[in-house]
Amino acid sequence: MMNNLTPLHEAQRTVLDATAVLGLEKISLLDALGRTIGEDIVAERDNPPWDNSAMDGFAVRWEDIKQDHAIQKPVTLAVIEDVPAGRMPSKSVGTGQAIRIMTGAPIPQGADTVLKVEDTEQTPDTVRVFKPESRGSNIRPRGEDVRKGECIIAKGTPIRSGEAGMLAVLAKSFFFAYQRPRVAILSTGDELADLDEPFSDEKIINSNSYGIAAAVQEAGGIPLLLGIARDTQAALKEKISQGMNADMLVLSGGVSMGDYDFTKAVFREIGAEMNFWKLAIRPGQPLAFGKIQGKLAFGLPGNPVSSMITFEQLVRPALLKMGGRRSYDRPTVEAVFQEKFSKRPDRRHFLRGILTREEGVFKVRTTGGQGSGILTSMVKANCLIDVPVEVERLAPGDLVTVQLLSGEAWLTKFESGHAGGHRLSCC
Ligand code: AMP
Ligand code: MG
Repeated sequence: MMNNLTPLHEAQRTVLDATAVLGLEKISLLDALGRTIGEDIVAERDNPPWDNSAMDGFAVRWEDIKQDHAIQKPVTLAVIEDVPAGRMPSKSVGTGQAIRIMTGAPIPQGADTVLKVEDTEQTPDTVRVFKPESRGSNIRPRGEDVRKGECIIAKGTPIRSGEAGMLAVLAKSFFFAYQRPRVAILSTGDELADLDEPFSDEKIINSNSYGIAAAVQEAGGIPLLLGIARDTQAALKEKISQGMNADMLVLSGGVSMGDYDFTKAVFREIGAEMNFWKLAIRPGQPLAFGKIQGKLAFGLPGNPVSSMITFEQLVRPALLKMGGRRSYDRPTVEAVFQEKFSKRPDRRHFLRGILTREEGVFKVRTTGGQGSGILTSMVKANCLIDVPVEVERLAPGDLVTVQLLSGEAWLTKFESGHAGGHRLSCC
């Protein structure tokens, strides 16, 4: 371990090992977006439930139209029934007959082919066939989408609009999902003022609580804002105890060198088991992690960008795991760096970046100033440029890995070099 710094991947492993998956609850389909499904969804019937027409047209017997009936010698069939969508056919198609059928309607008995309406000429009682199809044309077979008994959505899958539609197809209006982690958020510092306090030039607005609350929601959690704990042991202890009915506690501030004795004393008093790490990353070096009365607790650095980056790298994966997800990574892509950059080879850097795609190539530049108090860097960024510990300099044209700041873990399926159609926004 260099300079007593803890490598990020070690800290991430420690955090994930200590993180337990939450239980399940029944939810309604209309509340399902972004939730993680807590059961294997198995089809109880085929979908579509019957062979059905892919076109508006006529259900016919291939035998009747198959020969050399082409434009010169059209076949005329008797139309014996109309089957609009929502109606079942009552007749079967016999020799020389056809049934008028709408898209999605069940294929009548006897028919094995559907002719498109535009390839026919019709009267109310007859249809003339100009263009023979091949046998079975324009029929969507029963079960082509879903087969009875098949597992369609696996436990642990995040629910997007596609899954929501499929759950409706399978008549699942209620089902099990993982509980959402409830996260108590606490800011610490005498210099802070909250948004509902009178504005004062002497104070710094508590922005961390709000940034962290949004990040919690994005990771599927429910934020519970505890406000600001003043820099006294009693105040910190009191606020922490208010957070003990949540599933996780996230503090920001109070873990830099000057604060150690003070926060450590409080943690000791309340029986917390915390590690105080100096992480080998920038921004975001000091970080406390452990358990308070069995609940996961993070003490993030106070600087706004540091708190967001450490949340992103350590808290977010823990929340995703608690919420039942199977993968915890952001999607990554390889991109061509557009600038010069140098650093000491002792920390992994997460530069705030702007990723664009030009002529099929991902290109990335930084947002400008990278100080840990420059929160506009997070506003401008659509990605983090992940510069490994050992790298000392980057030049224009170098290939770098970037973590996308939007997009869910499931996008990692497309990790190798392109973003899988995910739309990136940049300003
Ligand atoms: P600390 O880690 O407590 O030493 O704080 C480091 C820096 O982060 C200080 O300059 C604070 O002004 C700033 N800071 C701490 N907490 C917050 C917060 N909740 N919102 C905005 N800035 C903060
Ligand atoms: Mg402080």
